[in-house]
Amino acid sequence: MATFSINLKDGTLNKDNEVIVGIDLGTTNSLVAYMKDGAAVCVQDDLQKNTLVPSVVHFASDGSILVGDAAREKLITDPAHTIYSVKRLMGKSYNDVQTLEAFFGYRILDEDKDALVKVKVYDRYFTPVELSANILRELKSRVERELKASVNQAVITVPAYFNDNQRQATRDAGKLAGLDVLRIVNEPTAAALAYGIGLDKSKAETIAVYDLGGGTFDVSILQIQDGVFEVLSTNGDTFLGGDDIDKTIATFFAAQMGLDTQVLSANKHLQQELRLLAEHAKKTLSDGSFFQGEIDGKAVSIGRDTFEELIMPLVQRTLDCCQNALRDAGLKTNQIDKVVMVGGSTRVPLVKQKVSAFFGKPVFNNLNPDEVVALGAAIQADILSGNQKDLLLIDVTPLSLGIETVGGLMDVIIPRNTKIPSKAGRQYTTSVDGQKNLKIAVYQGERDLVENNRKLGEFVLRDVPPMPAGLPKIDIQFILNADGILTVRARELRSGLEQQIDIQPAYGITEEDMARMLLDSITHAGADMKIRGVLEARNEANNLLLAGVKFLQQNDGILTDEEKVNTNALLKALSEATQTEDKDVIHQAIETLNNYTMPLAHRAMDTNIRAAMSGKKIG
Ligand code: ADP
Ligand code: MG
Repeated sequence: MATFSINLKDGTLNKDNEVIVGIDLGTTNSLVAYMKDGAAVCVQDDLQKNTLVPSVVHFASDGSILVGDAAREKLITDPAHTIYSVKRLMGKSYNDVQTLEAFFGYRILDEDKDALVKVKVYDRYFTPVELSANILRELKSRVERELKASVNQAVITVPAYFNDNQRQATRDAGKLAGLDVLRIVNEPTAAALAYGIGLDKSKAETIAVYDLGGGTFDVSILQIQDGVFEVLSTNGDTFLGGDDIDKTIATFFAAQMGLDTQVLSANKHLQQELRLLAEHAKKTLSDGSFFQGEIDGKAVSIGRDTFEELIMPLVQRTLDCCQNALRDAGLKTNQIDKVVMVGGSTRVPLVKQKVSAFFGKPVFNNLNPDEVVALGAAIQADILSGNQKDLLLIDVTPLSLGIETVGGLMDVIIPRNTKIPSKAGRQYTTSVDGQKNLKIAVYQGERDLVENNRKLGEFVLRDVPPMPAGLPKIDIQFILNADGILTVRARELRSGLEQQIDIQPAYGITEEDMARMLLDSITHAGADMKIRGVLEARNEANNLLLAGVKFLQQNDGILTDEEKVNTNALLKALSEATQTEDKDVIHQAIETLNNYTMPLAHRAMDTNIRAAMSGKKIG
């Protein structure tokens, strides 16, 4: 009978002797690894001595499902029922992915553009979570066959830029495949672990992890010290990878064959065949200098020089991302101690050469670049199972998180590139008397106005006891857990009323959107500041207008008629000033009103105090 031990540090329940596996659930290929005699190893398939499981799922008309290499072959013979690159769809709506549709050989369901995307196969609809679960089930049974034991716990890696929804979707896929996902770990963090970087606690290092996979590119700058892995910044492009190299070569071949683009785009079968031949050419050129092949009865060929010329723009784009990541981390290339290469596409000699030249040092590429992430995931799993000393992983949130305040302003609570897990909070109050229900709208992004950011979700703090404006004390806490999932808690401190939500947005953000949002925040910084200035001045003016009206009502007997007329005129002038778009005009009106009413307020206060002191109501 199995005994149970509780690992207090992580709060995980770990069954004795049960292996926790590490899984790299990739866009193109997936792998599973575990610790064997103190070293991480990837599980191979029974036949081919191959550790990669292509992330491809095929559905046959009789209902049977193929995953991996067998499914990959169906890309040519049965593209409509063969699903690949499903990772791109995780946590996304059709709106997020519609520009990609031409890229997929299968049908993406488009009936409800805002709902989570589904894939149509025959008459069935599959969610990306279900499709990914098929891949995970294959990995699970692979490792179970090797270990001759059941495997129920895993660590799964995701790109550092995955948002809450994408991480949650990955977790769900694990659950559906019968795996308890103990931790979602960022891929670059796993890659660093695979190289043993950070295992020596006395050593402080800053490293760059360059990951060029099949469909995505990302670069992360990590700082590692005292066993703590901290992601200083991340950058990348989810639409840049080996697939794009293949597409470039495929286009080149199509031109060689004199193929009309319209004819080609109508022929999905030929498209896929070209895609696979192009990939074959690319791999050949990683070792050799020339490729020759045949397709559709026509000869095609490409040499290394032409190849490098064609893909240089793609490589340059990755270097631009590296530059951005360094900028965000506030570092120069010479401050990077090590550069780790990850992803099958880093086998391309031009890539290695250019990255090495960019950072001005040789790169780490002696481990198999397809396997490093899975190996690191296995090491992380081992740490979680309590077999390794206190290693902590700290990641960052790539976009700022905050709430909407009066005037549609974004109030940042957790700034961009904050380490996670993280917790931050702030107190707010109301701007209207007797406000009962308070809407807490949570946004992600860098712009000053929430309308330009992305809404993650909202909830209402209901039935707050009526109080004058400014009196309620609303404490908002943002709690970002180690998986990057956000919980927002709102509490009215005077009444103790509390409400909280886990933020699970209706659908995910695209990485293009993320890049655009960051870029926008830079290009619009000037304009945003101006708008923010006006809105803040207007808020201040509105508060003063309310206070002014109250003051006149409460002190009717103390003020002279002339003072009342003048005060009313200044209030009217301020109210008019708030209609302008000029913050200086508003500030001027505020100042004029304040200057005039200040002595009146003092006099009113003195009078009121004297009245109170005259003895009626003490005690
Ligand atoms: P992902 O992380 O997106 O699942 P991988 O890291 O497995 O991707 O990388 C897959 C990509 O690596 C594919 O585009 C594949 O064509 C490319 N690749 C694999 N081997 C080579 C090679 N020898 N030369 C160039 N590219 C390669
Ligand atoms: Mg990968």
